[in-house]
Amino acid sequence: MAGLRFQLDLFIPEDSTGTLVAGIKIPSALASKIPAIRSAIQDLKTYARKINDGQGNEEMTVKATYHICTHDGENGDCSKSLQDI
Ligand SMILES: [Zn+2]
Repeated sequence: MAGLRFQLDLFIPEDSTGTLVAGIKIPSALASKIPAIRSAIQDLKTYARKINDGQGNEEMTVKATYHICTHDGENGDCSKSLQDI
């Protein structure tokens, strides 16, 4: 079955003069939009389904997460701190 598939990976650099969101400062112009963006993503998730649900080749295609990314820092792998949107 064909479908419309969204795949996003958007790194927003920390902005020391920005607004605190989820534990990190990001550009204030973006910070004010986060609630609407989050709501829109949650709406998309209600329509999303796993590809080949229940079959051997099932793909987890109902996934939307965020995390404070420290890949370039001393904390190494930060993928364990994923939060659902
Ligand atoms: Zn990361």
